[in-house]
Amino acid sequence: MLDSFIYQMLPARVVFGRGTSTALPAEAERLGLSRLLVLSTPEQASLAGHVQQLLGERAAGAFHGATMHTPVEVTERALEVVRAERIDGVVAVGGGSTTGLGKAIALRTDLPQIVLPTTYAGSEMTPILGETQDGRKTTRRSPKIQPEVVIYDVDLTLSLPPAMSALSAFNAIAHAAEALYAPDGNPIVALMAEEGVRAIVEALPRVLKEPGDPDARASLLYGAWLCACCLGTTTMGLHHKLCHTLGGLFDLPHAQTHAIVLPYALAYNAAAIPEAIARLRRAMQADEPIAALLQLERDCGIPLALRDIGMPHEGIALAVEQAMANPYGNPRPVEASALGELLERAWAGAGI
Ligand code: NAD
Repeated sequence: MLDSFIYQMLPARVVFGRGTSTALPAEAERLGLSRLLVLSTPEQASLAGHVQQLLGERAAGAFHGATMHTPVEVTERALEVVRAERIDGVVAVGGGSTTGLGKAIALRTDLPQIVLPTTYAGSEMTPILGETQDGRKTTRRSPKIQPEVVIYDVDLTLSLPPAMSALSAFNAIAHAAEALYAPDGNPIVALMAEEGVRAIVEALPRVLKEPGDPDARASLLYGAWLCACCLGTTTMGLHHKLCHTLGGLFDLPHAQTHAIVLPYALAYNAAAIPEAIARLRRAMQADEPIAALLQLERDCGIPLALRDIGMPHEGIALAVEQAMANPYGNPRPVEASALGELLERAWAGAGI
C-alpha cells in the first residue's frame, strides 16, 4: 500500500526553453515591477548588460559583485543600490552565487526575484540560503528566499565550459539522489528525482562532446531543474551535510566537493536504501548505479579525490568530529569510524 505523505508544492513559476530570456519584460510586468536591479558576478557583467537591454526602461540598475558563499558585506553593498535606486525587484542572471545574492536581498527586503540560471546548481528552485560572515557559513530556509519566477533559457547555458558543466551536473544529481531517501520524500519527488537523473546521465556525455548542442543542453537543464525541485522540497542527508562541513572547514570549491563525495556517500548508505538504488538503477540503466556514476565521473575527466581540490589529510579527523557534533537524519546511522573510512577513501580517490 502507498504510504501517506506530505508534498509541499514550490510556489515558483517556471518558463523553460530556448531564447526564453525575451520573456523577461513580460514576466516583470506580470509581477508589476518597473525598477529592477540586475545582479551578476564580475565575469558575467556583459551578460547582465544584455539582460538590462532586454528590460529596457524597467532596468533601474546593475550590481556585478556577486561572489561565492554569499558574503554578508557584498549583500550590504547591493542593498545600498537597492535603496538609492528605489528598486522594486531583482533579476539574478548566473549560477548559484548570483542567485544567492538575490535571495539574500529578498530575505531582507521581501522584494520579488526573477532568476535566469546559467549553471545546473539548482539554487533557484529552493527556499534555502547559505551566507557567510566572519568566515562562518550559516544556512536558513524561509518562504521569502524562494524566487518567484525562474526563466530557464537554454541559450544562457551554452557558454558554461564542459568541465564546469560536468561538475555542476553532478551537483544536481546529488540533490536527486538524496531526495530518493529523504525522510520527507514522497512519490512525486521520487518521480522528479528519477527523471532528473535519467535526463542528466543521458545528456551529459553529449554536452561534453558538443558543448554548443542546444538539444543536449536543453535535456541537461531540464534534468537539473527537476533535481533542483527535489532539493527545494526535501531534507538532505549525509552527502549534503558532509559537503557543507568540508566546504566550510577547508574552503573547498562547491561543485567539485559534491562530485567527489557523492559516490562515497551513496555507497555508505547503499544497503539501507534499496528503493532508491532501484530507481537509480532504472535512471542510469546500470545494474550497479554507484559504480556507473563513478565511471561517468572518470569519463568526464573531473577531479576524483578530495586531496586534489585542496583538502589536507589531517583535516579528516576534524571533519569527522564536526560532522558527528551536528547529528542529522540519514538512512544509515552516521558513525565516526565508518565516516572516517569514507573520508579516507574520498580523500585519496580510492574508489567505492
Ligand atoms: P557559481 O555561481 O559560483 O559560478 C561559478 C563561475 O562560473 C562564476 O564565475 C560564474 O560567473 C561562472 N558562470 C556561471 N554560469 C556560466 C556560464 N553559463 N558561462 C560561463 N561562465 C559561467 O557556481 P554554482 O556552482 O552555480 O553555484 C555555487 C554556489 O551556489 C555555492 O555558493 C553554493 O553554496 C550555492 N548553492 C546554493 C543552493 C541553495 O539551494 N541555496 C543550491 C546549490 C548551490
